[in-house]
Amino acid sequence: MKISQSTVVCQCCGSSFSKEAVRLPNGHLYCPNCIQLGRVSSDLALVHQKEPARIPQAVKLIWAGKLAPQQISGSQQVSKAMKQKRNLLLWAVTGSGKTEMLFKGITAALKSGERVAIVDVCRELYPRLQAVFPEIDILLLYGSSEETYRYSLLTICTTHQLLRFYQAFDVLIIDEIDAFPFADNPQLAHGVAQSRLPKSSLIYLTATPSLKLLRQIKDDFMIEKIPARYHRRPLPVPKLLWWNKWRQRCASGKKLKKLTQLLKRLLSQNRVLLFCPSISLMEMLAEHLKKNFPELAIATVHGNHPRREEIVTEMRENKYQLLLTTTILERGVTFEKLSVIVLGANHRVFNQAALIQIAGRVDRKGPPSQGEVIFIYDEMTKAMRQALREINAMNQAGIKAGLVDEV
Ligand SMILES: [Zn+2]
Repeated sequence: MKISQSTVVCQCCGSSFSKEAVRLPNGHLYCPNCIQLGRVSSDLALVHQKEPARIPQAVKLIWAGKLAPQQISGSQQVSKAMKQKRNLLLWAVTGSGKTEMLFKGITAALKSGERVAIVDVCRELYPRLQAVFPEIDILLLYGSSEETYRYSLLTICTTHQLLRFYQAFDVLIIDEIDAFPFADNPQLAHGVAQSRLPKSSLIYLTATPSLKLLRQIKDDFMIEKIPARYHRRPLPVPKLLWWNKWRQRCASGKKLKKLTQLLKRLLSQNRVLLFCPSISLMEMLAEHLKKNFPELAIATVHGNHPRREEIVTEMRENKYQLLLTTTILERGVTFEKLSVIVLGANHRVFNQAALIQIAGRVDRKGPPSQGEVIFIYDEMTKAMRQALREINAMNQAGIKAGLVDEV
């Protein structure tokens, strides 16, 4: 810990405190901010293992898929950035197949014996990378995971776990970068900065970069924009459905006709994911809908739901026709034959990025199924307008580049 007259700075996570606030009974100082990783205190020295020299390895990529033309371009940019130790923002629309665009670059880095880390909030990358790199021992570090640390060429972890590393990675990839509030959490930015080698490549992946992020990175990142999905179909454009007093109606269960009719129509073709602005409103509405549709398999899910992961798996296995959810499923999930409703799209939890991500759940893979995206609202918001503008702009860019077929 770096100690000055009145303050102390934790070398592990970068947090600073007044000395008096963090004094232990034995007189030493400690860091409360990163205590989950093991207590850092002033009587202990932080040590790090010296990174071994990079030794070329034989690495096999087992993948029989084929990249679409825009994925080839994305893949080349990723490989180039990794090789030249430069930073890249891969701005790729939802459903563009960004994971596949990483394969080539990661293979090349691993072949040169370099260490690669991927920060993944959605926990979707591990099984996919394990499948394509069956001979690589991937270290998976999550708060709840039982795995203990060992040296590994490929690490998948949370931003928090990055604090365990000091100048270790040649390549650091952060998936869904816009989901991390770096600005609000200097600890995360510290983890990114200290875990990578001075000469390394930082790759950000997102479908929805904020203006703030774009401003932050404009001087030291290349930007590669992928405006099209691999299957060449345009992004589904949300349809607006005005429904006065949606909140009161869904809470009371009275005058739900507009919603029930919409559900009937959508459910005749696809399953439906219904996004709600709060858990309490969702639970009330679920009860009313169960009465209205006694035959229907209906479930609810949210971030603290004890069966969260099982419910998502069951949805994937077609066990439900209607799943009500909070924004927890706005990204990282793919269900085939799906329509999406955002109930109360004008609610403040549905910001521009959330609305674009939610709309992006539809028509991701499989044959086209006429999946729709419906925003139910009673007041227009800036976020809704911007989301619509952005989706239309990406479709236009895709068509113009010859990567999207007009419908
Ligand atoms: Zn700390």
